[in-house]
Amino acid sequence: MQPISDEIAGAQRRRMRRVVEGCGAYAVLLVITTLAWWMGKDRVPPFLEGAQIIHYAVFAYALHAVFFVLIKTNLNLRLRDPRMILPLILLPSLGSYYVMYHVTEPLLRMPFLFMASAGLALDSLNNKVRTTLIVAVTWTAWYVGIIVLLWMYAPERVNVPAEVTVAFAVGLVLTQVVFFSGFIGRLRKKLAETNRDLHKAMLSLQELATHDPLTRLPNRRAAMEHLEAERSRVERYKPGMEELRMCVALVDVDHFKYINDHYGHMVGDLALQIIGKALARAVRRSDYVARFGGEEFLAIFPGTAPESVMVVAERMRRAVEEVRVAGIPGDHRLSASFGVGVYRPGDTIGMVLSRADAALYRAKDAGRNRVIVD
Ligand code: GH3
Ligand code: MG
Ligand code: MG
Repeated sequence: MQPISDEIAGAQRRRMRRVVEGCGAYAVLLVITTLAWWMGKDRVPPFLEGAQIIHYAVFAYALHAVFFVLIKTNLNLRLRDPRMILPLILLPSLGSYYVMYHVTEPLLRMPFLFMASAGLALDSLNNKVRTTLIVAVTWTAWYVGIIVLLWMYAPERVNVPAEVTVAFAVGLVLTQVVFFSGFIGRLRKKLAETNRDLHKAMLSLQELATHDPLTRLPNRRAAMEHLEAERSRVERYKPGMEELRMCVALVDVDHFKYINDHYGHMVGDLALQIIGKALARAVRRSDYVARFGGEEFLAIFPGTAPESVMVVAERMRRAVEEVRVAGIPGDHRLSASFGVGVYRPGDTIGMVLSRADAALYRAKDAGRNRVIVD
């Protein structure tokens, strides 16, 4: 048996449930048939022979056992329709037609017709309209078929004019079931569409709530949540576990007001977008860069010891120096100052951020375009 995916395993479980439900439906039919046999056993001729009920039960359950084994061994997956819906509905129902052919009292064919209509209506909640239509047409045709057979071989068990009316009614009722199935199908399609739309809307709301629209980087709220999550991880730090260290850097673009004032706000916006991209590209995959507000960015470096944070912060600083923005003359070099805070076990997020802020202040004070580690 080859391994199967979770999705297929789930589908197989649903198929198995249908087989079990089928067993339940035939149990009900057998109870009805047995009642008919018992009520008519003293008649001459009796309504039914006991042996016919045994045939019915053996046939229905042997078929269900075959379906059970096919699904259990995943052999059904090799079939064109691994759901086996039509065989599951139609094949066992042949047993009912066998009983309908043999009952001596025509009225006793009615319960099978009720059960068929109700069963098909219920099943249509799961089935495609096409499937319901095929079953409805097949069952009506088979019903007409046994009436013709009875008329030819056992005319004493059939009242032809009455049966023509019943066959007509059966056709009509099953047609209604097909319409009902179509209605349910449309409803389900609509529901699926609405769910898809809702899911899309939820994703875009999530994006809006957690990302900055200008740079598309995570926003301050998302950054704080991320930082809090990282904090609970690095709280477990013990000496020697360098993968549980963490540093953060506050990045502030130097003299950004000048850019806005001299080249316009639009150019300033473009510069922020390009700087954001450059910063995000300069860090490792496991690092995190967010727009913290205005011309400030926050970088989070999990698993980074104070000794190695300088390397990545310097790389980011140089990346800002390399930034070129349409609308800003080539001889105007952009730069940013970096204040790095090292997380110490027991710190709150506020504590590490304010250390980074103090370091940033010192970087500005010392002439900008530099990295200071607190
Ligand atoms: P410093 O080197 O000391 O950081 O100087 P600075 O000019 O960068 O600092 P300041 O705080 O005086 O100015 C920051 C400027 O950033 C002012 C504000 O208008 C601008 N700014 C903040 N957010 C945006 C934005 O989204 N778009 C644009 N174009 N400008 C922004
Ligand atoms: Mg600032
Ligand atoms: Mg600034």
